[in-house]
Amino acid sequence: MEVFQPREAGKVGFYGCGPTVYNYAHIGNLRAYVVHDILVRALRRAGYEVNHVMNITDVGHLSGDNDEGDDKMVKSAAERGKSVLEIAELYTNAFFSDTDRLNIVRPTMVCKATEHIADMIALIQRMAHNGYTYSAGGNLYFDITKDSGYGGLALLRLDDLKAGARTAVDEHKKNPHDFVLWFTKSKFENQALVWDSPWGRGYPGWHIECSAMSVKYLGEQFDIHAGGIDHIPIHHTNEIAQSEAATGKKPWVRYWLHNEFLVLDKGKMSKSTGGFLTLQKLVDEGYHPLDYRYFLLGGHYRSQLQFSWDGLEGAKNARASLTDKIRALAEKAGRAGQGGAAQDTAHYVQAFNKALEDDLNTPRALAELWGLARDNSIEPQAALAVVFDMDEVLGLGLRSVLDEKKPPEDEAFKREIEGIIAERAAAKQAKDFAQADYLRQNLKERGIILEDGPGGTSWRRIL
Ligand code: AMP
Ligand code: ZN
Repeated sequence: MEVFQPREAGKVGFYGCGPTVYNYAHIGNLRAYVVHDILVRALRRAGYEVNHVMNITDVGHLSGDNDEGDDKMVKSAAERGKSVLEIAELYTNAFFSDTDRLNIVRPTMVCKATEHIADMIALIQRMAHNGYTYSAGGNLYFDITKDSGYGGLALLRLDDLKAGARTAVDEHKKNPHDFVLWFTKSKFENQALVWDSPWGRGYPGWHIECSAMSVKYLGEQFDIHAGGIDHIPIHHTNEIAQSEAATGKKPWVRYWLHNEFLVLDKGKMSKSTGGFLTLQKLVDEGYHPLDYRYFLLGGHYRSQLQFSWDGLEGAKNARASLTDKIRALAEKAGRAGQGGAAQDTAHYVQAFNKALEDDLNTPRALAELWGLARDNSIEPQAALAVVFDMDEVLGLGLRSVLDEKKPPEDEAFKREIEGIIAERAAAKQAKDFAQADYLRQNLKERGIILEDGPGGTSWRRIL
């Protein structure tokens, strides 16, 4: 077990790799952001001041992480007949709409790659100055042989991978693990966004944005960096190489947190091959976004999680019973003399905290919350207070369950109002205005206003 110790007491600098905004996030991507959210919430509840930085990748991400394939943004823009920046805006907004619906707290700082090109160039210049780069075929590369620690994160065995052993290895690379820092003589003649740089007009490689923006906003050394496990062998490995090469081998990140994948029974979910599940799709199928959040909390972030509709249905039912439980507790708390003995809730809190401290064990934390909610020996008001405190981390919106107004007008209620409106119309027709006024006044006292218009009478609630 490793004990978390931030660089500065009471403060945490956290960088989580953000989305590449060429398409909607799929529910696998959203798993990564729920994990980041749990981490941030847990640290904040434990008293840390967390500076959470997230990037938006709107340039430079090729379909292969290793400088191969098409540019994801350019391809998506061409397919949809829009500009790259329009595509970026569309999917960035969609991303935050998803994360808001999942009750994910927005990062302290969100930064777009295209707005930080100068920072990337400056960081590359430091690497170049320290002797880590070479130019070939018009591009600027990072030379991994200059970096004795390269691949440490992923425990890469560099000799396993000989040049030419893989498909489509860039002929200009001295070593297949070398990677592009700056593209100029691009393989993409139609590259939409290009900038001037000391190496010519072009655009940055993908990995450099995370190094540049994290160093800018969190400093040359910071506490935690997160992303999906797919980022270990290439993206994060290269981020470390770049950052430490630029800063003179100062250890860059203290702790790495990698989430395992959400998988479908059919296998991997991929944003580029299409046919993936979005949050909206789950909503269209009748699920609340928080049903999905609940589903995710049921798996430990370092374990693969298999998505299934049955599993989601189970989460939906469990969340519904939990919210029922909260309402029942609140009702009991409101009635004098209905509670159990005011008992110590401390052991639930301790077990809950321990579960989170133990590498963010959300399934166990959720079980503790349930244990408390079900424990009739605890005074309801005290139980509720602790449930809400636990939910500061789990983010299931439990507090707002009590703020919710009665469910929207149900059919029976609507029929009743329509019936009274019809009755009033009939009274008016029969010139029985006293009865008509009586019916209107009666509804008003129930909080319903009638409005007579050319199309008939409509009604609305008094707000
Ligand atoms: P991208 O937008 O493709 O750059 O990915 C956004 C985040 O989602 C990254 O942290 C990925 O590692 C992560 N990710 C991608 N696919 C999955 C998946 N199926 N399950 C969990 N995380 C994923
Ligand atoms: Zn990154």
